[in-house]
Amino acid sequence: MAFIDRQARNFLLLELLGGMWLTFRYLFKPKATLNYPNEKGPISPRFRGEHALRRYPNGEERCIACKLCEAICPAQAITIEAEPRDDGSRRTTRYDIDMTKCIYCGMCQEACPVDAIVEGPNFEYATETREELFYNKEKLLQNGDRWEAQLAANIAADAPYR
Ligand code: SF4
Ligand code: SF4
Repeated sequence: MAFIDRQARNFLLLELLGGMWLTFRYLFKPKATLNYPNEKGPISPRFRGEHALRRYPNGEERCIACKLCEAICPAQAITIEAEPRDDGSRRTTRYDIDMTKCIYCGMCQEACPVDAIVEGPNFEYATETREELFYNKEKLLQNGDRWEAQLAANIAADAPYR
């Protein structure tokens, strides 16, 4: 009986028709995929993407060269050198992040007392060479300037939970 049933199903193409019916039904349902990169999905304010160094609104660097981020980084990806300025304030002379070592744990951001180093919303920074992933202070400040509005909004959104 089972043999006849299987042959009848094969002869009538029931499984094929069932599959086509399923496909047809999904034609009218909302799409589960995005047409990336033309369409992008939502990102959490806590998303940990490309790093950036932020400034205050007057243009002054936030970083006070305390080196907490360097000390806490489990991947030892951060290298900082610092010296006092003429006005007595302490600022970095070198701030490098080796992005090939970074594991995006976010601990540098958590440790920073002045919200200077942050992981921003940018995840589209693939490079063709390894060297391009050795970020220096200039590159990190450029990232901060570029993303400041979004970074400030993300920190404000997360503030009640910190
Ligand atoms: S995200 Fe983690 S691994 Fe990457 S630089 Fe910050 S502390 Fe280091
Ligand atoms: S980025 Fe923050 S934690 Fe790191 S040295 Fe500067 S002030 Fe300190």
